[in-house]
Amino acid sequence: MAALLLRRDKKSTAAHLKSDLNRTDNSSGVRQLQELLDSVLNPEKPAADTEALDWCKCLIAGGEGFEEFCKTVRSYDNATLCGLVWTANFVAYRCRTCGISPCMSLCAECFNNGDHTGHDFNMFRSQAGGACDCGDSNVMRETGFCRRHRLRTGENVPSVPRDLLLMSEMVLSRFIICIIQYLRDGYTEPDTSTERDLQKVLQELEPQISFLEELTKMGGAMRTVLTKILTNQQTFKDLSMGQEENVFAKKNYENYLSALKNSGLVSVEEKAQTGAAEPTRGSETGALGLLGAAAPSSSGSNKEEDQDGGQSIGQRKRVKLSSTTKDPSIMDSLKHKCFLEELLFWTIKYEFPQKMVTFLLNMLPDQDYKITFTKTFVQHYAFIMKTLMKSQESDTMSNRIVHISVQLFSNEDLARHVTEECQLLDIMVTVLLYMMESCLIKSELQDEENSRHVVVNCSEALLKNNTYWPLVSDFINILSHQSVAKKFLEDHSLLMLWMSFVSFFQGMNLNKRELSEHVEFESQTYYAAFAAELEACAQPMWGLLTHCKVKETQEYTKTVVRYCLETLQIWFDAIGFVDELAPNQVTFHLPLHRYYAMFLSKAVKCQGLDLESLLPDQEMLMRIMVHPLQIQASLSEIHSNMWVRNGLQIKGQAMTYVQSHFCNSMIDPDIFLLQVCASRLDPDYFISSVFERFKVVDLLTMASVHQNTVLDGEQERPMLEGALTFLVILSSLRIHLGMADDEILRAEMVSQLCMNDRTHSSLLDLIPENPNPKSGIVPGSCSFEEMLSAVADFKAPVFELGGSMQQGMYTPKAEVWEKEFDPIMVILRTVYRRDVQSAMDRYSAFLKQSGMHTTGNPWPPYKERTPLHPCYKGLDRLLHCKTLHIVIFTLLYKIWLDHSNMSEHVLCMVLYLIELGLDNQVEEDKGDEEPCIEEHCHDSWFPGTNLLSNLHHVINYVRVRVPETAPEVKREPPASTSTEASNFGQNVREAQVFSLVAERRRKFQEIINRSSTEASQAVRPKSSSTRWVPPGTPPQLVTEILEIHESMLSLLIKLHQKLSAKQNSLSATWLEDMDANPNRHIHGDGITAIERILTKAATRSHQSKRSIQEICGKVFPPVAPKKNSPAAKKTMDKEERRQRARERQQKLLAEFASRQKSFMETAMDVESPDTEAAMDLGASEVKESEVLYDCVICGQSGPSTEDRPTGLVVLLQASSVLGHRCKSDEAKKLPTTDDERIYPADTCGAAHDVRLALMQSFFKDSSCLQSVSIGWDGGVYVQTCGHTLHIDCHKSYMESLRNDQVMQGFSVDKGEFTCPLCRQFANSVLPCRPGRSTEVVSWHMPSNNKTSVLVKEVEDLQEQLGLFPMESNLSKEMELVIKDIKNTTQRKYMDYGKNPGSPDNDFLFMYSVARTNLELELVHRGGNLCSGGASGAAKRSCLNQLFHVLAMHMRLYSIDSAYNPWTRLTQVAPSRDDCLDDERPEVPMLFRDCPSLLIIFVLTMPQPLRKEHFICLVRMLYNLQYTQALAALSAKFSPEERQAWSTSGALKKNAFNAEKSYEALLSHVITELSKVKTVYDVNTEEPSMLSTSVWSPQSIEYSLQQFCLPYLRLSCLLQHHLYGDNLSGCPEEEEFSGLAGCLGLLDPVPQPSNPMYSASCLDWTVSAFDLMSQWCSEVTGLTNTQAEKSMTLLVQDLQWASPHLLHLPDNYNTIFQYYHKKACTACKKVPKDPALCLICGTFVCLKGLCCKQQGICECVWHSQHCGAATGIFLLINASVIIIIRGHRFCLWGSVYLDAHGEEDRDLRRGKPLFLCVERYRVLAQQWVSHTFDHINKRWGPHYNGL
Ligand SMILES: [Zn+2]
Ligand SMILES: [Zn+2]
Ligand SMILES: [Zn+2]
Ligand SMILES: [Zn+2]
Ligand SMILES: [Zn+2]
Ligand SMILES: [Zn+2]
Ligand SMILES: [Zn+2]
Ligand SMILES: [Zn+2]
Repeated sequence: MAALLLRRDKKSTAAHLKSDLNRTDNSSGVRQLQELLDSVLNPEKPAADTEALDWCKCLIAGGEGFEEFCKTVRSYDNATLCGLVWTANFVAYRCRTCGISPCMSLCAECFNNGDHTGHDFNMFRSQAGGACDCGDSNVMRETGFCRRHRLRTGENVPSVPRDLLLMSEMVLSRFIICIIQYLRDGYTEPDTSTERDLQKVLQELEPQISFLEELTKMGGAMRTVLTKILTNQQTFKDLSMGQEENVFAKKNYENYLSALKNSGLVSVEEKAQTGAAEPTRGSETGALGLLGAAAPSSSGSNKEEDQDGGQSIGQRKRVKLSSTTKDPSIMDSLKHKCFLEELLFWTIKYEFPQKMVTFLLNMLPDQDYKITFTKTFVQHYAFIMKTLMKSQESDTMSNRIVHISVQLFSNEDLARHVTEECQLLDIMVTVLLYMMESCLIKSELQDEENSRHVVVNCSEALLKNNTYWPLVSDFINILSHQSVAKKFLEDHSLLMLWMSFVSFFQGMNLNKRELSEHVEFESQTYYAAFAAELEACAQPMWGLLTHCKVKETQEYTKTVVRYCLETLQIWFDAIGFVDELAPNQVTFHLPLHRYYAMFLSKAVKCQGLDLESLLPDQEMLMRIMVHPLQIQASLSEIHSNMWVRNGLQIKGQAMTYVQSHFCNSMIDPDIFLLQVCASRLDPDYFISSVFERFKVVDLLTMASVHQNTVLDGEQERPMLEGALTFLVILSSLRIHLGMADDEILRAEMVSQLCMNDRTHSSLLDLIPENPNPKSGIVPGSCSFEEMLSAVADFKAPVFELGGSMQQGMYTPKAEVWEKEFDPIMVILRTVYRRDVQSAMDRYSAFLKQSGMHTTGNPWPPYKERTPLHPCYKGLDRLLHCKTLHIVIFTLLYKIWLDHSNMSEHVLCMVLYLIELGLDNQVEEDKGDEEPCIEEHCHDSWFPGTNLLSNLHHVINYVRVRVPETAPEVKREPPASTSTEASNFGQNVREAQVFSLVAERRRKFQEIINRSSTEASQAVRPKSSSTRWVPPGTPPQLVTEILEIHESMLSLLIKLHQKLSAKQNSLSATWLEDMDANPNRHIHGDGITAIERILTKAATRSHQSKRSIQEICGKVFPPVAPKKNSPAAKKTMDKEERRQRARERQQKLLAEFASRQKSFMETAMDVESPDTEAAMDLGASEVKESEVLYDCVICGQSGPSTEDRPTGLVVLLQASSVLGHRCKSDEAKKLPTTDDERIYPADTCGAAHDVRLALMQSFFKDSSCLQSVSIGWDGGVYVQTCGHTLHIDCHKSYMESLRNDQVMQGFSVDKGEFTCPLCRQFANSVLPCRPGRSTEVVSWHMPSNNKTSVLVKEVEDLQEQLGLFPMESNLSKEMELVIKDIKNTTQRKYMDYGKNPGSPDNDFLFMYSVARTNLELELVHRGGNLCSGGASGAAKRSCLNQLFHVLAMHMRLYSIDSAYNPWTRLTQVAPSRDDCLDDERPEVPMLFRDCPSLLIIFVLTMPQPLRKEHFICLVRMLYNLQYTQALAALSAKFSPEERQAWSTSGALKKNAFNAEKSYEALLSHVITELSKVKTVYDVNTEEPSMLSTSVWSPQSIEYSLQQFCLPYLRLSCLLQHHLYGDNLSGCPEEEEFSGLAGCLGLLDPVPQPSNPMYSASCLDWTVSAFDLMSQWCSEVTGLTNTQAEKSMTLLVQDLQWASPHLLHLPDNYNTIFQYYHKKACTACKKVPKDPALCLICGTFVCLKGLCCKQQGICECVWHSQHCGAATGIFLLINASVIIIIRGHRFCLWGSVYLDAHGEEDRDLRRGKPLFLCVERYRVLAQQWVSHTFDHINKRWGPHYNGL
């Protein structure tokens, strides 16, 4: 039966079956169909057989055509969502204004059809793929929907007729089971087969899966059918397992079952096993296996293994934890209930084939499907991650996973739904744990041996490759939904689980300070560690914190804080931490601390919780502060070079830790936590802990000498600076202590702008998303922009000629520098230390400029702080504790006495601390301060803790412990006491030992010990170890008593004197003189700072005031700055010297830059030669003598000689700039639609090619090649920097370059070099001719010869045979440069003749080189010679030398006198009929190009050519040019006009001076040319454009002048270069008379009455009419076919507009939208990297192999053909322009800038870009002036690969 059906026509069978099935009794239809399908969809057949697919299509369509069927189904589409699915690299849009979920994205069509004006949107290139959210109000606001999806089309679509999809339902279920069976059959476990097999199966299935995808595009109706099939459990049961009798199906099924078996997280075998045997197995197959998988080159990974192993003692072993999972079902194997589940299962097994993913995603607009699919996805989640971990291509797979999961989890309803029903949160956390458990190692922190803590191993592939990323990203995504986050925060066991997950990262990537040897291998694991903490710990934390913002959520915070503390406690126990840190260790990773810190901050700031209730006991606080403090100390150590042996990577860690993307998740929480600890702990304890941790305790002694057991001498100063700076930061930073969000943003912005001017985007990037990423201050939001305009001024991009492209920059406003510059914030945020200096430099520059501080270097300004939040008031006690005051006193004393290791920075920080203390008084302490004084003073230097009262407290004696060798010992102690300790307190009651820091520390140790003896007596005593014995134990130390008699105030006043270098710098009445304006004292140096502090002290305390007045009133003995201790002086000086060295260096750099710039300008400058010209003119006296040249290599000066020639440094380059000129002065528009097009035919190059080809088809080739110029395309342009060198010197220079191994960016082998003087790029040397520079002599001997005589002389000169020049060094060099010139361009630009390589070709090419250079100079001069120019310009140009070299070469050719055009130009001769026999005729004179003829004559005549002969040439050729003008003009007439002018002119023929009457001559030409009808006839067919306007004498004269002008310009320019004549400027309308006068064709003073002077320039030596008749007869004598074209040849285009690049649209999007998906015309594919030629508009495949020909990629290829190896390309996907020049290329930058004046390379930001007209003008100018090589740096070879 089925066989019967099979043989029948598919279409009719389908129709037949459909009608059968529609009957009420359809059983036979059903049976028939099943039988048919059994045989059609037989999975045993190869999948590649498309017959089955054809059958399915036909059956589904039910007899209709499939296309029509699709259309019908589509008409029932009720989808209201766009749902367009795209894959990686698709360009989509994101609108933050419209988006509800941050993941929202729109397809270009929906975006453009929606209204997003003024929104914060951007374009982006999809990384992982995505789908359009248009129409989904769960993800975006409805106002952003496009027109189509806003209409909710679904509501008015008719319901689907029952029978339409009947067949589909039946066929498709069979079709899907068939696909599944193929998948089952094809699958083999990866370890038993190779990767390729899976790919092969997929490839074969491609048409089937594509078909499914195609079906989804039919819209909602078809998707409903598919959903039904995919989710129906009964069909799945029936079809997937019910085929017991089928052997094939059975085998399949078993394959499937075995695949299922391993789908759980814990495999069946593992379940049975215990963890006992694990470690060994793990270490060999696990770590190595994974590493090997990531990096197949085993040598590399082995080395790494060794290194990591070498770092630790023993082998690093993976640790296997017993599973902590909450719900075992998550770990179990899968069970399937419908097709969708199994389909997804296979999708995973096959590692997410793209087509399958697209199909599954295309179904998502169906709501039922979406829910089921999401559940299925969640069900398979663990399995997905397991597969991902094993995958070889985890990157691709990650992208595909996220492509799917983003669509599912961005929707809050759905996410909540699956959280509730499918335990999504449990699954995610469990899977995360499972993943990380696979790479745990034992922590080595603290107690290496006994640590029980485990951490992730950052060198494992899982972390290195970021494999966990998709999972974490999903987790963050679902936590962004409040309902889901609440579930998480309410579930305590989940929180516990999560905390244990976080603790895997606590203390990872431990650094151990190398003390002896430099590490051999710099581990790069820190990248992985930082990334892991940020992504896996911090991001989820910020996600959770967004939901803990209000009072109602207090409970959540409390719970998190509780678990944090618990986990921290567990951690401290596990690492065996008691109270002492193991030395020389640091880890930057303390996520548990940071969780705790950030939840605390939120609790206080937003939820109104009391800090006290969330804090642990004092002991726990003490422990908590240890590790964050260690990081701060280590930062200082790293910057003090104490970690150099650990390599650069440790600096990398220090920098990453503070960097903008990490700081708010790392350093900020750490500092905050330390601030919390400081506010609660005893301040003396805290302060002493800080100095101890920074290892500078020993330094804090009053003694002149001390011993430091832990620091090297050179590290003491930076460490002390570090400690003090840290204390300043700690006590002044308010980020989490009371600042509002916008205050923080403002402070961040100001500090970044103060460091450097910033572009908008870099500023956006540098501002941490503070205080957390979702706080509402989203970068790019309005508040960012408002804040920016409040603090910064915009500096629009500036253009310097030849300078680099600048971008729009933001710079701080003046009042910001004045009031808001905060050096402390700058220090906190600097990644590079030099940025601090940069900020200070900019600050000083501002002060100088504004006159606020003009002498010396200002100090960092003091800035008042935001008041502390009441919870943190305790922090101020830090500033009011005796320990700090003792330190301050000691440091002031030591600075005053010039002790070593003190620096300006130390003083600055000390003063900062004093001032902070004065400004932040502790109120409550005041009350009980006074009574304490007496009681405590015996063990303390100061009576109380209040800074204000301690300031004036005088300390008389201090007891110090010093080595016996110290100077103090030798001095007789004033109170003459013994050194015995027992005397302490007896004789000198006030003398105190300054080991207080240590004493105090011990005191607190005791307190702690006492309070917890019961708890852990066994551990504690051991730990209060020997370390804390006061450092007085070494026997060589003795105690000495110093006599001090100073207070902090007196020391400050003394320092004031010292700094101002004046005794009694402060008078007794000084305080009264201070004015009340505090602002005056904000900016200034140390003196200002001290004055400010003293004033503050005086105003706040009477006692201080009295004390100050007293001290100031005293007359001090002169305190000359002590120079006696040279060592101390050194350190103070060091800073200063460093500063001076830097200034010197900057000055040098600036000088160098300006010198380079002036070189650049000279080289660039083509238009204003005036200044230098004037100088050159003055030097014209030397003209009689030989020119001397300076050699820039050897420095000698001398003439260029035959033996030792000198040459000009030149750059030869092929150019097609001239060829790209058009008639119109308007630039061609770049097409941006399919309808627009660029026609290349109207360019100069094309026109000349056509003209030459036309001539060559009629006339003798050799004659043709002398009648035109080439080089419009691919001509050789010669330019020089003007520097000369001996050619032999140059050769040795080249030799040295060749030996120089440094990459120079140019190729010496190709003759390239840079000018030794100005560094300009060059590639050849043009020999200078010996003798005088220009032929001025002949000008001074004007011969009175008549023109006719001169004509004869010229003829004689031309007859002279070219003599081969004497073989000399010079002549050899000249031939070499000719060779260079020829090699500069391509063959095709040289061979225009019919016989390639013939001398005629060579001849044409050579004189065309001269033409090209003259024409280009004209272009550079603006297209005319109106601007004039002195002869100096001629000197700097190399045209004269070039002409000489060319002439030398051209003289080798002689023109056959029989064909010499000179004869035909000057003589009336009988026509030579003889040549017509066998050959084609010569080109008629009227078709010849006069400028070309002039150049030919000049170059072929003996050199030097006398000026009168030159003028004679110009005159004779002008006659011809004028006649050509008349002929061309006459062609433009209408026949009637022609007749009229002919008649009227004829009357004047016999008048006087008829030979100079345009009317007579015009009439004659018309008459002569009319002799043969065809000449004018041709034109009459097409109506003349100008026939409507009547020709007047004025318009005729204008037309004639315009026709002759190009010839005059060229002649004039040539004369200028050959004879050094000045070019006189003139108004543009008088250019003709000006030039004619310059050439001597016209009287210098033309009669103004007669403007018709074009004819008066004529100068005939024979009868004008005869000569003209002769010329005309050459034309009329042609055959008829030739004559037809003669009009075209007569009417020439001589005037060309200046060259333009294409006109570009204003908005870059216009270009991008059209071109980024446009197909290349050559390969018909959409290029991966499309590029656009900005000269001609050609669209090319950059780097594409598709369009590569002869080993050259399309872009390079095009540059060779379009621009003779120069190309300007716009890279569509990057918005930047690249320049190709020969074998090199460079990135030029972009001509499109965003609203902030910035480039957006690679369109990363995706903001709208607009054309920067100025930049584009600069680009075009560089192109026209051929200065790409000089101006752009950083060229690289492209190897033809672009
Ligand atoms: Zn869309
Ligand atoms: Zn839409
Ligand atoms: Zn929008
Ligand atoms: Zn030299
Ligand atoms: Zn130079
Ligand atoms: Zn082009
Ligand atoms: Zn192409
Ligand atoms: Zn291509």
